Amino acid sequence: MELEDLYALIPQLQCNPGCTRCCVEFGVPSMVPAEAERLDRFLQMHGIEKRYAKGTTCPYVDEQGCIVYPVRPLICRLYGNSPNYLCTVGARPIYLLSEDEEAEIFHFYYTYFAAK
Ligand code: SF4
Ligand code: SF4
Repeated sequence: MELEDLYALIPQLQCNPGCTRCCVEFGVPSMVPAEAERLDRFLQMHGIEKRYAKGTTCPYVDEQGCIVYPVRPLICRLYGNSPNYLCTVGARPIYLLSEDEEAEIFHFYYTYFAAK
């Protein structure tokens, strides 16, 4: 299983236009080593310096939104799409994952990627 295969299990959430609230409120997203490596490669390819969080704000959000969107980690993709990570401003996907589906995604995530 590749990270993209896992990400494909998560529905697409249409965020409220211009909203970056979760990126501003929840700090640096957690990520497994495989995601951190992808992020580092993306930063190098695009000539972006590695950034560090200030307070609760993710270092990769700006006025336009996420500047590392193609390689954002699982938790950013899951946010708003599963019962334990509901969007606090009410955005909902067409299809909300069930608790079992959410648990299965985390199971795959930690089984296949946490130790790499
Ligand atoms: S998930 Fe919700 S809080 Fe986060 S950017 Fe989208 S609309 Fe805003
Ligand atoms: S990586 Fe992108 S989507 Fe995730 S919290 Fe940071 S700015 Fe938001």
